[in-house]
Amino acid sequence: MKGLLDQKFSNGGVVISSLEDITNWARLSSIWPMGFGLACCAIEMMGAYASGYDLDRYGVIPRASPRQSDVMIVAGTVTYKMADRVRRLYEQMAEPRYVISMGSCSNCGGPYWEHGYHVVKGVDKIIPVDVYVPGCPPRPEALIGGILKLREKIEKETLREPEGLREIVENLD
Ligand code: SF4
Repeated sequence: MKGLLDQKFSNGGVVISSLEDITNWARLSSIWPMGFGLACCAIEMMGAYASGYDLDRYGVIPRASPRQSDVMIVAGTVTYKMADRVRRLYEQMAEPRYVISMGSCSNCGGPYWEHGYHVVKGVDKIIPVDVYVPGCPPRPEALIGGILKLREKIEKETLREPEGLREIVENLD
């Protein structure tokens, strides 16, 4: 992105950048999450979308279909009954795809960690997680912080070796 921004547009100037930088800049500026929530953390996620926090300003606009989504925000308690659906929705997302685990339940089982026989003790047991947002529940500011972390990650990706491809190659070994 540096190459894109350090040039001036005045006097008919020319912008020179790499395809990789431009692609990453476009991708990190239009992260579309899949619109779904699992428990109380989802209320804070909805708050982050509302006008007070306005996630739209980062290009974060929820989509109704996993096929159009770049990121899954797992906001809430992942029960064993729901785990299969979470995994299936993740697999329906096009690559490169990302996961933000929002809140203690999704990170490690939260208050159900010890006695919650029905709760998966961390969504990373069923899908790969890129960013963990701590809290019970995390405030909208914390979720925005997680999205900024994800943007940093996307900015450093290379077209030759996107995360999704790397994951597939590792699984083949
Ligand atoms: S982490 Fe806390 S607020 Fe979030 S879903 Fe679990 S119990 Fe609810």
